[in-house]
Amino acid sequence: MLISCPYCGPRDVSEFTYQGDGTRRRPAPNSQDLEAWNEYVYDRANPAGPHTEFWQHSGGCRAHLKVVRDTLTHEISSATFVREDLRHQAATARHGAKS
Ligand SMILES: [Zn+2]
Repeated sequence: MLISCPYCGPRDVSEFTYQGDGTRRRPAPNSQDLEAWNEYVYDRANPAGPHTEFWQHSGGCRAHLKVVRDTLTHEISSATFVREDLRHQAATARHGAKS
C-alpha cells in the first residue's frame, strides 16, 4: 500500500504510523457528560468503505496526515496535512460558519 505524502510523494506504508480514527471528536475538557467521554474513550467504529484516519510519516518528513482510506480495498482517495484541516477549522471558528 502506498500513501502519497503531500510533501514527500508516494511512499510505502511501512514509513507511516497509524494514529487512529480521524472522525472522533473529543468532548470539551470541562465537560461533565460521562456518556460523551465514555463514547470518546471506548467506542470505535469499524466501517466497511471510505474512512478518515490520522497517519504520521514517521519514517520521512514526520508530518501528520489526514488520510481517507477505503477499508475494503485499501485505496487511498486523499492524504492532506492535518495542519491544513486545523487551519480551516480555526478560520471557520473565527469567522463563523457560513451556510
Ligand atoms: Zn512525508
